[in-house]
Amino acid sequence: MSDRSDGATTTVAAVGVSGTEPATSGPRLLAGSPIAAEIRARLTEDFAAFKERWGQTPTLAVVLVGADAPSAVYLQQILRTCQKVGVDGRLVEIGAEVTPEALCTEIESLNADPSVAGIIVQMPLPSHIPLRTVIDSIDPAKDIDGIHPRNAGLLSLGYDGFLPATAQASVEILKRSGIEIAGKRVVVIGRSNVVGKPAALLLIREHGTVTVLHSKTRDLGHHTRDAEILIVAAGRPGLVTGEMLSPGAVVVDVGINVVPDGAGGEKLVGDVDFESAKGVVSAITPVPGGVGPLTNALLLSHLLRAATDQAEARR
Ligand code: NAD
Repeated sequence: MSDRSDGATTTVAAVGVSGTEPATSGPRLLAGSPIAAEIRARLTEDFAAFKERWGQTPTLAVVLVGADAPSAVYLQQILRTCQKVGVDGRLVEIGAEVTPEALCTEIESLNADPSVAGIIVQMPLPSHIPLRTVIDSIDPAKDIDGIHPRNAGLLSLGYDGFLPATAQASVEILKRSGIEIAGKRVVVIGRSNVVGKPAALLLIREHGTVTVLHSKTRDLGHHTRDAEILIVAAGRPGLVTGEMLSPGAVVVDVGINVVPDGAGGEKLVGDVDFESAKGVVSAITPVPGGVGPLTNALLLSHLLRAATDQAEARR
């Protein structure tokens, strides 16, 4: 096999919002930020119209259990996005020692609060808290990140429910970039309930021919080299290298990993070794700036839908 890392010097050309402009050389960079900005601009108008019609500003409640630093950074980003589109973001900080019962009581009070339209619970939770109990306690009508069994069930049946925002973002970035999914050989690495599994279901809905790989899969490269579209959501920096990719493949890198930057600091990287991949693929999402920004914008579009449904149901 030829050395596919020889394209490392190829320039990477950014594409516009539609993602359909051809790059002059190198792969197309599928940037999520401009798409997210477009969605946020629309949401800002829609939330203003909501306020006008219903006389209230919807609240997104973000539950953080324990002061986990990476979670806190992620949550600050969501709260900033809330501010940008004119939504009230409420950070509900709960001590790491909370009992499962007390945490569920807190979530139930958010369920009952008419000003709260959506609830997200930041993962991971402390190990003494059973995940299932917490997930089950969220009102499915306020479960805007689609983790409740009702929404997960709706997704698996192909019905309309709240979708897990990251999984949706990984598919939406392809669609909004004009990349055809129907009939393609699509490989997903990762089978978590929040990313890999729902992404695979959404890709089936888009008529892709989907294979799911995971930590027990033998010979990852054998499968990834067959992919016309590869979605990587493993949380393992450098897991996928250029020689594991088919020439011309489209790659969506969902991974977010903090690694040393070689100069005493830290940097964010995905699960794909960008340097070796960029000479092989036809299009790839950057990390940061790919799936991440789109996730938050989609989450707030779910909040608008939840707020509207709840306001109409109360009428
Ligand atoms: P997870 O740890 O719950 O699941 C990881 C999955 O990858 C598992 O199904 C596992 O089987 C698989 N996996 C792990 N190592 C593997 C290997 N060596 N080979 C093949 N499969 C392997 O993680 P998650 O919550 O699904 O998140 C995945 C990644 O996506 C993480 O890097 C996370 O930070 C990132 N993430 C990004 C966003 C975003 O907005 N971009 C949001 C959430 C999560």
